[in-house]
Amino acid sequence: MWSAMRHCARDLEERAVYIRADTYREGLGQAARRLGIEASDIVVSDPTSYAARRLVRQLGVQVEPSRGFVTSERDFADWAASRGRKRLLLEDFYRAARRRCDVLMDGDEPTGGRWNFDAENRLSPPKGERTLGLPEPWWPTEDDIDEEVRADLSAAVGAGEIRLVGAAGPRRFAVTRAEALHVLEDFVRHRLSDFGPYEDAVMRDDWVMAHSLLSVPMNLGLLDPMEAIEAVIEQWDGGDAGLSSVEGFIRQVMGWRDYVWHLYWHLGEDYVTRSNALDARTALPEWWTDLRGDEVTASCLSSTLTDVRERGWAHHIPRLMILGNWALQQGYEPAETTEWFTRVFVDAYPWVMAANVVGMALYADGGTMATKPYAAGGAYINRMTNYCKGCAYRPTERTGERGCPFTAGYWAFLDRTRPQLQGNHRMAQPLRGLDRLADLDEAIDGVRRRGTDPP
Ligand code: FAD
Ligand code: SF4
Repeated sequence: MWSAMRHCARDLEERAVYIRADTYREGLGQAARRLGIEASDIVVSDPTSYAARRLVRQLGVQVEPSRGFVTSERDFADWAASRGRKRLLLEDFYRAARRRCDVLMDGDEPTGGRWNFDAENRLSPPKGERTLGLPEPWWPTEDDIDEEVRADLSAAVGAGEIRLVGAAGPRRFAVTRAEALHVLEDFVRHRLSDFGPYEDAVMRDDWVMAHSLLSVPMNLGLLDPMEAIEAVIEQWDGGDAGLSSVEGFIRQVMGWRDYVWHLYWHLGEDYVTRSNALDARTALPEWWTDLRGDEVTASCLSSTLTDVRERGWAHHIPRLMILGNWALQQGYEPAETTEWFTRVFVDAYPWVMAANVVGMALYADGGTMATKPYAAGGAYINRMTNYCKGCAYRPTERTGERGCPFTAGYWAFLDRTRPQLQGNHRMAQPLRGLDRLADLDEAIDGVRRRGTDPP
């Protein structure tokens, strides 16, 4: 963020007055004095958190609607009101947005006759390969501004003002408009056609796979989501990308990204702190908070923590099905887990955390967001990743030396949360499976004995 702000100021040349202050209030005061204007002459885009929105309203500046999303807050409110008592489902929101914006539509019908190409988009990693074999992504080159940011961060650490977590690796993410356009072009040209099929797959030696790396520039406001959508449609129009990839990407951006943004406001400011439907009370252990992947034996978790330590990034399956799944199984406290996700990811903001972490990953809202918990054992991880092959554990075993901590953890989780989940008809089958396990006590005992130690 510092790098982005300072690059923005440099790009704007004399049109920018760049102010460094300890608080927004002080910064705006300084700006008004420097420019000889009143607070009421200042126009701001509506900020992206409750606290900042409160502040700009107190200051008496002019507030314009937030930018950077496809669906406006007014359109979302109209859509939500039109639902009456029906659930605010992603699928319905996404279809309404496609219709309203006329994206991938043939009249009133979705292009290709289907809204959803998930069946084609759930491939496992290619067998016998270590990577998808795609060209190395385009990377930004650090400059004097990045150097200055690093020096300022080191000084703040030295002065005890902040504590950082993670490795000081090279800056991988776009922080200028020009860099954002490079990343978009590179993605569309080299990775888009594999995006759909391998969207949910994970490979240990290929951290990017076919993902776009666009969350950082989009969240920083350097790239409008509609520009990204238009670029992928153009590639498809030219015959250089399949519809399943193009639709899959648009679903993420126009669907998921906008959906979690609007839910942040819709669910309310106390959503994170009031949600703990599964009574999750475990404090996050230090090996987890400090991203000490090297202390973890479980190959999937060890690699993911290390990836996050190295780059502050992992794609959505490691976030949801490895980190989120582990936090869910272990009963990590939801507000603390949300705070942790916000601290360790480069693209994190409060608005993106609420629905993704509390609702999706932890099922802490008891089913407002997801119809059932995203809990999974080693079988899922073995199918969608290539971690299990080199692991000391076996995904099919739940007890003993080689018992997979995710598999044992899955059954222990179901056993612990049975009272809260038994009314959910989508959990009926897994809960029946629990009753059929002859070695359930042994599996639970193994989980209990490990406690919060690294698996
Ligand atoms: P791609 O896989 O190329 O997807 C394209 C774009 O779709 C992304 O750039 C992103 O803008 C958008 N997108 C897709 N899914 C989501 C989603 N669920 N929520 C919001 N945007 C989405 N995304 C963030 O931007 N910041 C976060 O802090 C963040 N935390 C997450 C935590 C959890 C537990 C989960 C399950 C998901 C989280 N996501 C977050 C969503 C998603 O994982 C990232 O947006 C994505 O991995 C970023 O990489 P990419 O740009 O290469 O995305
Ligand atoms: Fe992860 Fe279990 Fe597979 Fe090991 S065996 S990589 S712990 S899922």
